[in-house]
Amino acid sequence: MRKTQENEVPHRERTRRVMIGDVAVGAGAPVSIQSMTLSSPVDVAGSIDEIQRLAEAGVDIVRTAVPNEEAAARLPELVKNSPVPLVADIHFNYRLAIAAAEAGVAKLRLNPGNIGKAERVRAVVDAARERGLPIRVGVNAGSLERDLLAKYGHPTAEAMVESARRHVRLLEDEGFEDIVISLKSSRVPLMIGAYRLAAQEFLYPLHLGVTEAGTPRTGNIISAVGIGTLLAEGIGDTLRVSLSADPVEEVHAARTILESLDLRRESVRIVACPGCGRLQVDLIRLAEEVEARTRDIRKPLTVAVMGCAVNGPGEAREADIGIAGGRGEGLLYVRGAMVKKVPENKIVDALIELIDEVEVDPKRSVRGGDQITWTPDWDESVAQTS
Ligand code: SF4
Repeated sequence: MRKTQENEVPHRERTRRVMIGDVAVGAGAPVSIQSMTLSSPVDVAGSIDEIQRLAEAGVDIVRTAVPNEEAAARLPELVKNSPVPLVADIHFNYRLAIAAAEAGVAKLRLNPGNIGKAERVRAVVDAARERGLPIRVGVNAGSLERDLLAKYGHPTAEAMVESARRHVRLLEDEGFEDIVISLKSSRVPLMIGAYRLAAQEFLYPLHLGVTEAGTPRTGNIISAVGIGTLLAEGIGDTLRVSLSADPVEEVHAARTILESLDLRRESVRIVACPGCGRLQVDLIRLAEEVEARTRDIRKPLTVAVMGCAVNGPGEAREADIGIAGGRGEGLLYVRGAMVKKVPENKIVDALIELIDEVEVDPKRSVRGGDQITWTPDWDESVAQTS
């Protein structure tokens, strides 16, 4: 399955559609968010708790490592209790892949070139095909085949794509095309180059990621640069941000990347001014509090947090709801029109109340606010009429 000519349609709209449980990936489906449990499937309760927290944060698909038979044996229970489709991550052992497929996982992540003889590949493919499971071929720059390292001298985009091609061919030789490909590296220029090259060659969905990106402080930025660059070019059907942190942080980062490119719109986006000498409120604290208290709200709203009433209203006009700081007070705006004035220590409570009250048309445009409806219904103990 090869792309043979350039055209203007973004790669992600031309890829093959695969289904990971009930989540569509490829062919223009919304870019999905993945993460991976830190818990082993052996710890069923711990894994379920983790998957539940990931689902609440907005994950679409969760992967779990299946390192041995004990882990594989617990998969049916995990699948049964998981609120999102589960992917089994297998290395080398084809029997574990078959056991995972039989346990009801929604996708396998394994490299067929690493499981040995053709009969083993065929057995895994048969198990996947029978149940409609896609297989992700995952190339990692850090574990390229020796002969490719000898041929290219070091990990290059070409070497990574050649490695992917080998694994893909083993599946294609079995007539299997429900394939997803990833080409991860901890080096952003390398992963960008590899995915660009892969997008020229394959029409399989691409799973994006910067591997081993580090702690959230740097990892979020590194991931956003790598993943965001590709997404902006129309490359990438699903993604995982890999952080040395609670995986919930990966989901928040992934959501922010997608929302920053208008590829997803389901939560509150904060627009906050950087502050300057006109500040009359504690803007940094205010912005952080607004972000923390709106993080889990599922409403596609843009909220502007402005430090003063001089430029605030103008800047907030593009947002659905705006706050502008005044001397010891805050002004609240809906679609650019001031609707309330509240004491500074009540600003965030009033904002949350307002967010609760506005109704949003899910089909609304990404920015604007002309699709939200709001009927004033204020708790006078929180808000004072201006
Ligand atoms: Fe300065 Fe006001 Fe603009 Fe914020 S909104 S940067 S405080 S002028």
